[in-house]
Amino acid sequence: MPAGLLGGGANPSNNEPGRSPARPGHVLPLTTRHESQLPDRSPRSVEGGREVERHEAIIVGAGSAGLAAACALSKRGFETVVIEASNSVGARWLTRYAELRLNSWRPMSKLQGKGMSRSCGRNPSRDDFVAYLDDVSTRHRIRVRFETALVQVQRTGDLWRLETSTHPLCARYLVIATGWDAVPVFPQWPGMETFTPELIHSSEFRSALAYRDRDVLVVGAGNSGIDIAGHLVHAGARVTVSMRHAPNCRRVSSSAFRASPFWFSWPITCPSNSLTASCRSGSG
Ligand SMILES: Cc1cc2nc3c(=O)[nH]c(=O)nc-3n(C[C@H](O)[C@H](O)[C@H](O)COP(=O)(O)OP(=O)(O)OC[C@H]3O[C@@H](n4cnc5c(N)ncnc54)[C@H](O)[C@@H]3O)c2cc1C
Repeated sequence: MPAGLLGGGANPSNNEPGRSPARPGHVLPLTTRHESQLPDRSPRSVEGGREVERHEAIIVGAGSAGLAAACALSKRGFETVVIEASNSVGARWLTRYAELRLNSWRPMSKLQGKGMSRSCGRNPSRDDFVAYLDDVSTRHRIRVRFETALVQVQRTGDLWRLETSTHPLCARYLVIATGWDAVPVFPQWPGMETFTPELIHSSEFRSALAYRDRDVLVVGAGNSGIDIAGHLVHAGARVTVSMRHAPNCRRVSSSAFRASPFWFSWPITCPSNSLTASCRSGSG
């Protein structure tokens, strides 16, 4: 049976509080429920009959950005708590397909302190990365409050007042680290309503194995599209990739990754112009 498959981007401006993180059967043996193991000395006040917990800094989202911010703030002596809508750190990674490996090189994919173990390989798997985030939060004793989604923020005096799905909180400093790719962008094309084979967005893609011996059209040749196409080919699907423009991607050699620390020390226009010139000369 043919299967239509969409690669595609995500809406950078939206987030999805309360999103369920882990698929059944993909729950990792995480150890992150450690907030209760750490002493909670946060002052509390009562406002309108409700207890409001006060913190120096609150971070919303326990993805890589939120955990990195928590490490940095704690290291500088700020009393910090992270609130997370789901029940795990790195929750967004757990919603992604089983075959996913980081496309960024392991040594370049670390947060503060120790990186991922060499045994994870050059491009660690999705589950390795989530386990690593879990390890970072444990090692740095980051307090993460799970199943607590931010619902509303208000500025009152010199404090941020947060309404959450559990109870109100307030803090002097607030970091929003809720991610940028939670909401899929699914273009609308004429005829979609009557297209009967499977038609999904890349965010709904779970595993290539389900597409063995099937015809799959992948629309879009960005990171997700090309990665998914590769897994489908390995799984035995017949794959066609549709690109809007003439070849807009090419193989990037490992030397480009090794050079990346060097590039990061330059203004962004230098690596950007250089890569554009190299792509034009290589792919037209
Ligand atoms: C298929 C794919 C492959 C990728 N591969 C790589 C890669 O190899 N290397 C790389 O560097 N990047 C990669 N990326 C990009 C990477 O996933 C993101 O850049 C990174 O995860 C962003 O981290 P973040 O902490 O900003 O957000 P997220 O990881 O999205 O974390 C946001 C967190 O906030 C929580 N949250 C959201 N709303 C609320 C709320 N209202 N209240 C409380 N909590 C909330 C979410 O549950 C989530 O845990 C990939 C992306 C995709 C889609």
